[in-house]
Amino acid sequence: MPDKKKSSFETDAIRTQNPVSGEREHSVPLYMTSSFTFESAEHARAMFANEIEGNVYSRYSNPNTDEFIAKMCRLEGAEAGVATASGMAGVFGCLASLLDQGDHILASRSLFGSSHQILSQILPRWGITFTYADTGNTDRWESLIQPNTKMLFLETPSNPGLDLIDLEWAGKLAKAHNLIFVVDNCFATPYLQRPIEYGADLVQHSATKFIDGQGRAIGGVIVGSEKYMEDVRFFTRHTGPALSPFNAWLFSKSLETLPVRMDRHCDNAEKVTNFLAGHRSVNKVRYPHHKDHPQVELAKKQMKRGGGVVCFEINGGFEKVKKFIDKIGMLSRSANLGDTRTIVTHPASTTHSKLSDVEKEAVGITPDLIRIAVGLENADDIIRDIEQALG
Ligand code: PLP
Repeated sequence: MPDKKKSSFETDAIRTQNPVSGEREHSVPLYMTSSFTFESAEHARAMFANEIEGNVYSRYSNPNTDEFIAKMCRLEGAEAGVATASGMAGVFGCLASLLDQGDHILASRSLFGSSHQILSQILPRWGITFTYADTGNTDRWESLIQPNTKMLFLETPSNPGLDLIDLEWAGKLAKAHNLIFVVDNCFATPYLQRPIEYGADLVQHSATKFIDGQGRAIGGVIVGSEKYMEDVRFFTRHTGPALSPFNAWLFSKSLETLPVRMDRHCDNAEKVTNFLAGHRSVNKVRYPHHKDHPQVELAKKQMKRGGGVVCFEINGGFEKVKKFIDKIGMLSRSANLGDTRTIVTHPASTTHSKLSDVEKEAVGITPDLIRIAVGLENADDIIRDIEQALG
């Protein structure tokens, strides 16, 4: 284990690992086991009574999931965590475990499509309501807080529009109104942004994205204060969205290279942004650290770099967009992001297609919008493919 006080992010990402077993392995082994054995009847009783710590059953805990959680806690600066089978299992687990019938959530309007579905279609069935607040109009947020508002739920930068919310401001708002402050930090990763430093109680990730970084596995993780994690742990332990040991092992190995990968994602995304910003067929380019992003100052304040996602609009509407996407050669047409391979997505007809036209318009998901999750290929090759497809 690295020195808790002195070690850096890069070292923590590599050296936070399970103790070496009797085999003296260098790289942490995979514990593909559904359950663990007891030394005696008394040992089993004591484990179930929580009198002693240890692994019982991999739905509750497993050395690989424990290591992944410990590393994520270290990187986000969190006390505790829970790993889940997907990012959405984490979002749902977090909301369902901490909210009761009659509670209200204040959420940023620019949310991932499935988070929107949970808020608008699933939680209302159990009497949990929500109000959206616009990212561009934070002055109004306080007036949207109701006596039964219990949680502030944000995504920054947002998917796909890359809207930002001032985490310091939001942390103070949550504190002043005693709200549980939850941030989906999937786009930034802890390498670029650490919401707990601004007062977030819980940080949520789709590990499927930059944490895995290689497009291989679905998973999620929630980290934050032990005060709330106890309820999240109880809920996930009994409802069962556990992360598989294999995926936890992959994610923990992947985190070893997170800083190196994120720097390269950012280098490439900056080059792609600069190319797009100067192209005649491109209308509007969005990248958090680019001078034309309306919140560039905020981005520079709370994000170390701009991240691996760029979005832009093509002059000519959906017909032109389709031509662009169909002409793409090396890059991938897919609905994922945070992969080594650059991915081109049309959010309005895919990831966010379940939103109504009015809802799409409210968060800037126009028919012209394209999201590029810039990968780790050579930037010149990525740009060449985009250039030929733009025609
Ligand atoms: N949160 C954000 C911001 C996302 O972009 C996604 C997926 O794209 C999710 C959550 C859901 O993650 P998963 O697909 O791992 O369930």
